[in-house]
Amino acid sequence: MSEIYDCIVIGGGASGMMASIFSAKNGYKTLVLEHNEKLGKKLYITGKGRCNLTNNSSIENHLENIVTNSKFMYTALNAFSPKMVMEFFTDAGLKLKTERGNRVFPQSDKSSDVINTLIDQMYNFSVKYQLNCEIQRVEKINNIFYIYDKNNVIYTTYRLIVATGGLSYSGTGATKIGYDIARNFGHNIIRPKSALCPILLKEHTVALNGLSLKNVRLTIVLNNGKEFSEFGEMLFTYTALSGPIALELSSKINKYSLNNAIARIDFKPALSMEELDIKFQKEFKSFAKKDLRTYLKTLLPNKFCEYFFIRTGLKNIKLADLTKENRLHIINLLKKFDFSIKSLDNINVGIVTSGGVDVKEINSKTCESKLVSNLYFVGEVLDIDALTGGYNLQIAWSTAYLAGNNLKG
Ligand SMILES: Cc1cc2nc3c(=O)[nH]c(=O)nc-3n(C[C@H](O)[C@H](O)[C@H](O)COP(=O)(O)OP(=O)(O)OC[C@H]3O[C@@H](n4cnc5c(N)ncnc54)[C@H](O)[C@@H]3O)c2cc1C
Repeated sequence: MSEIYDCIVIGGGASGMMASIFSAKNGYKTLVLEHNEKLGKKLYITGKGRCNLTNNSSIENHLENIVTNSKFMYTALNAFSPKMVMEFFTDAGLKLKTERGNRVFPQSDKSSDVINTLIDQMYNFSVKYQLNCEIQRVEKINNIFYIYDKNNVIYTTYRLIVATGGLSYSGTGATKIGYDIARNFGHNIIRPKSALCPILLKEHTVALNGLSLKNVRLTIVLNNGKEFSEFGEMLFTYTALSGPIALELSSKINKYSLNNAIARIDFKPALSMEELDIKFQKEFKSFAKKDLRTYLKTLLPNKFCEYFFIRTGLKNIKLADLTKENRLHIINLLKKFDFSIKSLDNINVGIVTSGGVDVKEINSKTCESKLVSNLYFVGEVLDIDALTGGYNLQIAWSTAYLAGNNLKG
C-alpha cells in the first residue's frame, strides 16, 4: 500500500489550496489531488481575470451578502476574517488594492498572482500535489480513507478534506464528485441550482442584445406574490436578462417556482407615476408637434425605443393627438415594463452553485462532518452562496481555514 498521508485534500481550487496550507502549517503531511492540469483553474478567471479575492468590509456586511446559510458562516468569518485574508496575502508578498464597493484585488490586476502566492505558500509548507488526478470514489475502512482515481490508483489518508467546488463552469474542472462522496457517507445534498446567472425570458430579445440599462429598478414578481427588487445596472442578451442586478436577483429567486414569474423594469425609478404624469403633460404641450417615436428617444436608450413603441400598441401620432388614456398607458409601461420569465439559465452558466452538502450535518466550528469523523467539506461544495463582491471567495478561504486548523489527532 502507498504511504498514508496525514491529510489529503480533494480539489486544488481556492478552498483546497488554502486548506492544504493550514493543514501543513499545523504539521500534517498533506497532499492535494486535482484533476486539472494545473491548480486554481477557476480562480484564474475570477473577477474577469483580476480575482476579486475578498471584500474589505465588516463581517456583518459579509453575512448580509451571503444568500444561503449565512448563519453557518459566523464562526468561519470570525476565525479567518476578510482582514485576516488580506493580511495572509500581503504577508505572503502579494500587494492588494481596494476598489469601488470595497472589492479587493491584487495590485497587479492579475489573478495568476493570487494563484502563485498560494502555490508558493504550499511549497513553503511542503504541501505535495498531484495534477491530472481525477478522483472517482472514496471509502473509509477503520480509520483510513481510501481514495480512488480514474486509473484506480489508491491514495490513503487519516483525514480527508473535500474541496471540489460547485457545478458551474464545468470547463474549469467542476464535477459532482464532492456530492457523490458526501452522499455515500450518508450526507444529505440540497439540490444544486444556478446562482448569479442570467434570467431567461419567454420573449425574444435578439434586437436588444448587448443593451445595458443604468439606474433602473428590476423587480421579480413571483406567482405567490413575493417580490424581489434591485436598483442599478442590467444587460440584455439574446435570450435573457443579465448584468449585476439580474445576476443578484437570480440568487434570490432560485429557491422559488418561476411559473408565471415576471421580470418588471422601472425605467424611471426616481419618479412616481404622478410626477411622470405632470412632466408628460408639460412636455406634450411644449412638443405637441413631435411624434411619439421621436419623443420616446428622449426617455429611453435608442436601442430600446422601437421595442417599447411596439409594446405601446399605439400609432406614431403627434403628442398633441395622444389621449389621457394613451399618456397613462405610456407612463405605466415606463414604470412596469414586464417580461415573462422562462427559467434561470443553466447551472453551468451561473457564477456560483447554490445547494450542495447540507450544512445541518457539518460542524460550523470545524467544517467536519457530523456523520463521519475526520471528513471535512469546504468551499462551494457546501450549500452556501453569496452575491458578487468577493464574498464567495471569502467563503472558500474561511471554511478552508477552519478545516485546516481543526484537524484532529
Ligand atoms: C467566471 C467566474 C468569476 C468569479 N469571480 C469571482 C470573484 O471575483 N470573487 C469571488 O469571490 N468569487 C468569484 N467567483 C466564485 C469563486 O470562483 C468560487 O466560489 C470559488 O472558486 C469556490 O472555490 P472552491 O475551492 O470551493 O471551488 P473551485 O475553485 O471550483 O475548486 C474546486 C477544484 O476541485 C477540482 N475537482 C473537481 N472535481 C474533481 C475530481 N473528481 N477530482 C479531483 N479534483 C476535482 C476542480 O478541478 C477545482 O480545481 C467566480 C466564479 C466564476 C465562475
